[in-house]
Amino acid sequence: MAMPGVAIRGQRSLLRQIREALASGGPAQSRLDIVVRIIAGSMVAEVCSLYMRRASGDMELFATEGLDPGAVHVTRMKPGEGLVGEIMRLGRPLNLSDAPNHPAFSYRPETGEDPFHAFLGVPLLRGGRAIGVLVVQNRTERVYTDDEVEDLQIVAMVLAEMVAGSELEGELKGVEIAPHRPERLIGSKFADGLALGVAVLHEPPVAPSQLLAEDVVAEEARLKTAILGLQAQIDDMLTGEHGLVDASFEVLETYKMFAHDRGWNRSLEDAVRNGLTAEAAVERVRSEHRARLGQARDPYLRERLHDFEDLADRLLRHLAGEGHTARDLPENAILIARNLGPADLLEYDRTKLAGLLLEEGSSASHAAIVARALDIPCVGRLPGLRDKVSEGDPVIVDAETGEAYLRPRADVVKALQARLEVRKQRRAEFAKLRDTPAFTRDGAKVTLLMNAGLDVDLDILGETGAEGIGLFRTEFQFMVAEEMPRFNAQTALYGRVMDAAGDRPVTFRTLDLGGDKVLPYLEAEREENPALGWRAIRMGLDRPALLRLQLRALIAAARGRALRIMFPLVASVDEFRAARALVDHEVAWAQRRGRPAPSRLDVGAMIEAPALVWHLDALLPMTDFVSVGTNDLMQYLFAADRGNPRVSDRYDFLSPPALRALEMIQKACEETGTPVSVCGEMAGRPLEAFALVALGFDRLSMPPAGIGPVKQMVLSCDREAARRGVTALIRTSAGSIRNEIETLARKLYLAI
Ligand code: PEP
Ligand code: MG
Repeated sequence: MAMPGVAIRGQRSLLRQIREALASGGPAQSRLDIVVRIIAGSMVAEVCSLYMRRASGDMELFATEGLDPGAVHVTRMKPGEGLVGEIMRLGRPLNLSDAPNHPAFSYRPETGEDPFHAFLGVPLLRGGRAIGVLVVQNRTERVYTDDEVEDLQIVAMVLAEMVAGSELEGELKGVEIAPHRPERLIGSKFADGLALGVAVLHEPPVAPSQLLAEDVVAEEARLKTAILGLQAQIDDMLTGEHGLVDASFEVLETYKMFAHDRGWNRSLEDAVRNGLTAEAAVERVRSEHRARLGQARDPYLRERLHDFEDLADRLLRHLAGEGHTARDLPENAILIARNLGPADLLEYDRTKLAGLLLEEGSSASHAAIVARALDIPCVGRLPGLRDKVSEGDPVIVDAETGEAYLRPRADVVKALQARLEVRKQRRAEFAKLRDTPAFTRDGAKVTLLMNAGLDVDLDILGETGAEGIGLFRTEFQFMVAEEMPRFNAQTALYGRVMDAAGDRPVTFRTLDLGGDKVLPYLEAEREENPALGWRAIRMGLDRPALLRLQLRALIAAARGRALRIMFPLVASVDEFRAARALVDHEVAWAQRRGRPAPSRLDVGAMIEAPALVWHLDALLPMTDFVSVGTNDLMQYLFAADRGNPRVSDRYDFLSPPALRALEMIQKACEETGTPVSVCGEMAGRPLEAFALVALGFDRLSMPPAGIGPVKQMVLSCDREAARRGVTALIRTSAGSIRNEIETLARKLYLAI
């Protein structure tokens, strides 16, 4: 046997030999036996053993060169047991000069491993999940070199992908390369609905056929070009002329640090030099980071993992180059991702996308907002999701309860199909009501409007039967763009919205950025309390150039038609006065240039900051209309962050304080004859909408999916009886009056 301590030579030819051995046909066991022999020979090790994880979680010796062959399929370790269990648990290599002296060493007499001291074990990682452990051992006490550790890790990665990607899995009885058992995960609902479909991974593993490079020099050049491209892109994002970036952005700074990080780059280069394709190298380095940082509890370290993940994604996009096209989806695709940027979702074929599952995110995250706008059921905050699901697995998204079922049992599928059928029937009923105006039984008209923010929403305006758009969130265009939309792009979108709406009114809300809606190209510092920070109209008034550009685009898009504009998060009458003055200024500017002024101009304020509720007597005479943004108003009234699942559902909108505040607003508007609408999410939920109608609100703007159910409620509602009931209930001392309001609604024969 050759001298130990010599690093693997001919790594590429080793990887090839492994590939050939695995593809050679014959029983799985003999192929694995050949593989461990090849690795032992190449690593100059006296022992090479492969342990695989069984569905029970136990690790089992599957093949060995050098240990007693009688131990194969006999030696098993519980999770966390022995050195092998420790490697599985940690997801990273163990390199020991004297293994029997390690506290975690578990002696197994049947293996005959007494004489071996030096031990190097590495996990077989797939997508950050350890499916097995590969071990080499030598008699002498020695520490394997960094190169050897790196080499063995590359072998382990290739082995993991090849074993998983081949038909071997079927033969390796009971081995859990991909999870098989049904699983139910509990998360949070981000976008309502139900879906049954097949898993599509947003970041699919590199196909085994694309693991090994044909031409290493060419592959090195590809990697280098991609890394340079990535670095240039990030440098440009930091220093580029994007008009408004005048402060460095911490996240980008961190990105920059990593993108230029020599360690990261070197790991990638080493992997390619050892025979991997550039894509496989990215996966390898990513997988290792995930395994290492994924267990970190420290939020700082977890954030760093995100940075690396994002960088890896960007690098893969650079490698895919210009020719990168949207992926083909199967019918009823359920997209599985850690988290998504809003633009990511729009890249998929909407007609085939049935649902979305996210490991992280929050219901206020961009992806969730876009999912709601597209009416794609979405459940988020599902810890460990990506490790538990494989491409093509059957999956259920239950966004009514906030759950996901992976590889569901037949009875679960059947129950879901029944629920899907009920939903379909209800949708058909709502569709029949599309052209029926929403009058209560006692003759009060309630105007139902739609919330929108993207081009795609325009297609469904007609389908919903909405009488107009009560809230157009203009910041969505900014959120889905890679860089700031210029004047022409803004004008074009607003023009399309008005064209699509025709005679129906559209209320454009000026940019509501800041808070949780951060843009890489338009940001200053991170804030301690972003929801209470520099956002919405505050940013607009401090940066009037941006707001004026938007107002100018709105006036240009109107081309002499009627125009409705409202400002978000107004907290004082002075802010509204200043914002309105900018509108007047822009109209005068257009007229001076001979451009048409809007035939009618309505300027309004959103009521979202509680302070305004006590100054409505001053505000209302200055406005043409107001709209209550209950999402924000309630988060400020209850001092509970709407994006934080720990507190966001803690306080009930159907409670005396919330409904009394709304009653105050409605009364003040009625007295001054100021048109008022409610455009927070509560307006789209039938029971909440019932309470609003009872309080006298007659304009409700909501997500498209809410219009049918709310109209059904209005048509069966007796407003006078509802008013009597609800106004009495809000004088009581209960913390929540949801049950009482529901009982009242049922008594009035409402379809709730
Ligand atoms: C609201 O706050 O209720 C609202 C409609 O605005 P957004 O949800 O966009 O903050
Ligand atoms: Mg708001």
